[in-house]
Amino acid sequence: MQSRRSDEADIAASEPALRVIMRRLREIMGEAGDGQSRLDKIVRHVAGVMVAEVCSIYLKRRDGSLELFATEGLNPAAVHTTRLKRAEGLVGRCAELGQPVNEPDAQHHPAFSYRPETGEEVYHSLLAVPIVRSGQVLGVLVIQNHAFREYSDDDLETLQATAMVVAEHLVSGAVANAEADAEISRSLAAVIKGEVLSEGIALGHVVLHEPRIVVTKLTADDPVLELRRLESAINELRSGLDELLGHEHLASDGDHRDVLEAYRMFANDRGWERRLREAVQSGLTADGAVERVQNSSRARMLRNADPYWQERQRDFDDLSDRMLRILAGRTAGANMPLEMPADTVLVARTMGPAELLDYDPAKLRGLIVEDGSAQSHVAVVAKALGIPAIGQAIGVVDHVSPGDAAIIDAETGEVHLRPLPDVISAFSDKVRFRARRQKKYDALRNRKAVTKDGQRVELNINAGLLYDLSHLEESGADGIGLFRTELQFMVSHTFPRLERQAQSYKQVIDAALGKPIVFRALDIGGDKVLPYLRQVKEENPAIGWRAIRMSLDRPGLFRTQVRALLKATAGGELRLMVPMITTAAEMVEVKELFDRELGHIRRKGMPSPERVKLGAMLEVPSLLFELDDLFKTVDFVSIGSNDLMQFMFAADRTNALVASRYDVLAAAPLRALKQVVDSSRRHNVPLTVCGEMAGRPLEALALIGLGVRSISMAPAAVGSVKAMILSLDASEVESELDRLISRGEKNIRKALSRFARKAGIEV
Ligand code: PEP
Ligand code: MG
Repeated sequence: MQSRRSDEADIAASEPALRVIMRRLREIMGEAGDGQSRLDKIVRHVAGVMVAEVCSIYLKRRDGSLELFATEGLNPAAVHTTRLKRAEGLVGRCAELGQPVNEPDAQHHPAFSYRPETGEEVYHSLLAVPIVRSGQVLGVLVIQNHAFREYSDDDLETLQATAMVVAEHLVSGAVANAEADAEISRSLAAVIKGEVLSEGIALGHVVLHEPRIVVTKLTADDPVLELRRLESAINELRSGLDELLGHEHLASDGDHRDVLEAYRMFANDRGWERRLREAVQSGLTADGAVERVQNSSRARMLRNADPYWQERQRDFDDLSDRMLRILAGRTAGANMPLEMPADTVLVARTMGPAELLDYDPAKLRGLIVEDGSAQSHVAVVAKALGIPAIGQAIGVVDHVSPGDAAIIDAETGEVHLRPLPDVISAFSDKVRFRARRQKKYDALRNRKAVTKDGQRVELNINAGLLYDLSHLEESGADGIGLFRTELQFMVSHTFPRLERQAQSYKQVIDAALGKPIVFRALDIGGDKVLPYLRQVKEENPAIGWRAIRMSLDRPGLFRTQVRALLKATAGGELRLMVPMITTAAEMVEVKELFDRELGHIRRKGMPSPERVKLGAMLEVPSLLFELDDLFKTVDFVSIGSNDLMQFMFAADRTNALVASRYDVLAAAPLRALKQVVDSSRRHNVPLTVCGEMAGRPLEALALIGLGVRSISMAPAAVGSVKAMILSLDASEVESELDRLISRGEKNIRKALSRFARKAGIEV
């Protein structure tokens, strides 16, 4: 064992460690300083006396997870950052069972859980003892060493005695930020800001999701029996998933299907099954085997910061937890609370797509998770179930207790915990108002958007997944003004080849029931990463090697997509637009590439579309200065105002500190947009706007005032924009806006909304 050079080690050589530690602990307790600094001193001292390279204290949180509170030897940055899920790893196991763990080769133990941020991979032996007070486990005290070593009974006794002192220290309330504080904060109203995963508003009561089963028996007495248990659990898992996928509350197709099918594929993976078998053959119980395979896969995947692999790990964790429940005789659904309230708001650190489906959808009002993103699989399933969901709600699990009232505002991305009566009544009003407003918009569904002075405005929706197509009919939109093809690439596990692409475009076309669709060529690169394509590290990805820039350098990608689109639209019309065009010459290049593919298909006599319209997205400001050249080369132009405005104002659209600093209704952008409208009229080339601004009634009003007659927006915005258009006189708005811009009005937004109010326009 590597020796630790310290005064304490010298003392240890001459006096029993237990006595030395106890004396020093008494001194530490008497010294000045806060609870945290005492814990820091304790770990430093214990490491020294016990000649351990590492000594750490983990304390238990209310949800059963363990937080690293103090360490000597592990990476200090991991303190208060590393959290082990309930029963995760050897430390979690020690807390869960309330028993010491003495492991000479911890890393090869089936329950070992790798945490790269701690830097603990170099330590082999581990001794962990629970910190217990009145029969309750408060945390875990751990020592670790480089060498493969079984700790002696004396070591164990010393560490246990130290743990008792630490327990005293904790219950005296000395550690300020532990449970006591959390307890207070859990009784107050709180708001947590997260990210919208699935839109809507929900009021209900918290149910905490607890997915894990603790494996108590790891080594097998009867390997043959364990193999049999494993086999029957795998069969039950697979048939359970088949049943789950057959739920009548899930639509028969849509993107959630792809997610669940991929999940089922995971369960049927031969490699996984083989690794489980091998683990059982090496002497583990079936449960121990699941835990080992899960932990070693997590170790591999965690080394990869790629969101794609993290998403895979979530699926995999979900699957392993499901297996453990089956092995423990708790069938899927049996881990659900017996009394699931009729207005359940599910709160979880993390949630797999299939886990969510275990809950009774009739009682599920909404979901809050600490991780997740809009593209995560659980978000796709939440949308398919039609429940609002919020992700990235950091710390939510620690802030709630089961039964707490909670409101999910998945319009703003906020979670209100234990809301005050006023807040509850405001949200109840909001829900009622939304329902009433929705009813009103539903009634407008079959009306065309025509202004009071007879100007027809085309209203389209933006979409990206097959699931979104259902909104086309619901919203009564004229068509799809922007189909973001990259989303299908992003949720796929492998690069979709020509046939698969063609098939999925065809599904979109079929689901649109004859309404027109503008497909957008792949806008990948930058922050839209495809897991199966090598990623280039860039300083400024938004203005980096993305979209058409990438496609022109790697024409294979673009050509495959064009062929797939030509195939899918055979006999009909293909409308395709190209993102991030920066010069008119680039558009000429794209057109040549496109024409080559079209020519190839026609020469071969393969089916092709009867009409083709090739357009450019205007989202890079340089194009504003060569509008004539641009309009001469395209069949249509669509303004991507999200990007155009971020580049025009040099303000990152994803950075809240600057994204809302500049107003799209200021004179500068409005003048620029007016030039584009005038140019499109001169060239008689159709123009549309498909950025977020088109979906906000006041901004849409301004666009119509500038002369825009076609806009595309999020499906949820169609109703309110249509109501605005029906109540508007376009020529009046045109002259008002013209007047405001030319007279140098400082606050056009305010002036315009005053005008709208006076004119009775619904904005
Ligand atoms: C835009 O930039 O306005 C746009 C519609 O494209 P995206 O939001 O996909 O970048
Ligand atoms: Mg864009």
